[in-house]
Amino acid sequence: MNIFEPMAAHDYEQVIAFQNRSSGLRGFLAIHDTTLGPALGGVRIKRYANEEEALTDALRLSRAMTYKASLAGLPCGGGKTVLLLHDGLQREAAFEDFGQMVEGLHGRYFCARDVGIADADLVAIARTTRFVARDPSPELGDVSEHTARGVWQGMRACLEWAGIKGRARVAIQGVGSVGRFLARILRAQGMDLVVADVDAARAADVARETGARVEAPEDILATPCDVLAPCALGGVINPASLARLQCRILCGSANNVLATIEDGDALERRGVLYAPDYLVNAGGLIRGAEFFLLGRADSSESIARLYPRMRSVLELARERGISTARAADELAESRLKKAKKFSDLTWENARRVSSPAQV
Ligand code: NAD
Repeated sequence: MNIFEPMAAHDYEQVIAFQNRSSGLRGFLAIHDTTLGPALGGVRIKRYANEEEALTDALRLSRAMTYKASLAGLPCGGGKTVLLLHDGLQREAAFEDFGQMVEGLHGRYFCARDVGIADADLVAIARTTRFVARDPSPELGDVSEHTARGVWQGMRACLEWAGIKGRARVAIQGVGSVGRFLARILRAQGMDLVVADVDAARAADVARETGARVEAPEDILATPCDVLAPCALGGVINPASLARLQCRILCGSANNVLATIEDGDALERRGVLYAPDYLVNAGGLIRGAEFFLLGRADSSESIARLYPRMRSVLELARERGISTARAADELAESRLKKAKKFSDLTWENARRVSSPAQV
């Protein structure tokens, strides 16, 4: 694989390939951009078909983290680690070796849990580096709840923008960690709820708790509603599903809701107001970053700022005649462009950044 071509295409700062022969550790760390602060990003472990697939994943996900942190107003950049799962891996030793590699970067990269990472893996990483988010922790709280709160802030801005007042109907696809918290928040706001989950018992449980109506999972995207909140999977909005939508607003926690950015344009043409996923699902990231990097006890105010940010996206989209998906990217990029490069990109530096620039 040609490495410099994809790196240059989106201006990646650094890609590290690392291995340890005795533990079987193999992986890639992509640091996309540290203009705003140390690169923050999950570590995932997966059985990849080949090295190219793993590297592509690291590149794609680290860039997404830069945009997400920028739009969330955090003093952080974007990074991502992918570890190759294979039969010869000595798991505990490999995670300790990985931690040592992270420690050697002196805080330029701060890692957190992602796909495939167990509690024991985080414990092993933390034995050899300080630069890891050790969740769960009682002081941190449930990250999914913070994510749900952020989704509500974005949804609130969209409802107002669309002129929908009072008891709106919200359909939630997936009532797992985030969806369940979102249902509780919406119930407290007096919304009319419809929920669906492939786990029927889970849907029934949330319905009992919140008074929601249960819909079949295959019908939830086509449910007539004011807001559709995808909180299960990515890629649910594509040319096939677009035609079935009967909502006015699309606002949920699922990552990569749009199969492509062109689907955002198509939503716009259909008159569906789209709340960019990486903006409205940033509550958990904000909480984690503020807790681990900045030592903040409470992130409520920062999460509440997702409301004015959502409004900024809506205003820019209207002003420029572009989709909200494109407007979010523009705002994230403009904050990056404006930011001055730190001379010393360390973890300690991030703590000193007291008031991140407003988007
Ligand atoms: P989760 O696994 O706890 O919940 C997902 C739920 O969706 C499960 O109950 C599952 O049964 C259900 N589901 C799966 N496929 C479905 C389908 N086709 N139809 C209906 N229901 C289906 O996951 P989560 O942590 O709640 O995250 C939900 C989404 O939000 C994911 O896309 C995740 O990447 C994203 N996200 C989560 C967080 C967080 O803080 N947990 C933060 C940012 C983004």
